[in-house]
Amino acid sequence: MMKLRELRGVAAIATTLALSACATHTEPWRGIAPGAALAELKAGNERFLDGDARTHDWLHERIHETGTEGQVPSIGVLTCADSRTPPELIFDQGIGSLFVVRIAGNSQSDVAIGTFEYGIAALGVHTIVVLGHTKCGAVAAAVAGKPLPGMMTAFVAAITPALAGLPKGADGAPSTSEAEIANCRWQAAQLTARSEILAMAKASGELTILCAIYDVETGEVRFLE
Ligand SMILES: [Zn+2]
Repeated sequence: MMKLRELRGVAAIATTLALSACATHTEPWRGIAPGAALAELKAGNERFLDGDARTHDWLHERIHETGTEGQVPSIGVLTCADSRTPPELIFDQGIGSLFVVRIAGNSQSDVAIGTFEYGIAALGVHTIVVLGHTKCGAVAAAVAGKPLPGMMTAFVAAITPALAGLPKGADGAPSTSEAEIANCRWQAAQLTARSEILAMAKASGELTILCAIYDVETGEVRFLE
């Protein structure tokens, strides 16, 4: 089995072909330390809630800090495509902080997992947040269990297994809010169940996976146990 360090060597070669990574990590503004990730995300969401978001010098962040010197995105986020769930705003982060995959129902897939494998092996991602949200249409579609046209079947199929075992109401379906939480946990579990690289990183303590639900009405992020 290939070790994580060896994978990083392979991924570094891949880096030259596609995404840009930063080999140096010396500036204090670069990256968030593993032990500080959860506190930073909570603090950022509080700033967002309070209407006290940081003032960003976008030109400097884009050109000088990340465009020229490369990215060091410490925290990966798997969240929904829903227009109300932009993680950079919700967690009050700038350019280059978050490595984000957005797809209906914050559902994992081969491509999503491969993206995070790359983030860990080549870019220094040490934390992944699976961020579900209230009023999720994709989860509601899976709860309804009615067939959708076209390739929308793909995200419904990715969410449906998460609902197994949930208590059902009088209408024969689980509550949407319970389904959103169950889906968040299930998608998170799939990351390591399906990826040897993510499982290895988590087992060695180099990766932390968190689950959270974003309330689209209040703006609050609630981290799950
Ligand atoms: Zn959604």
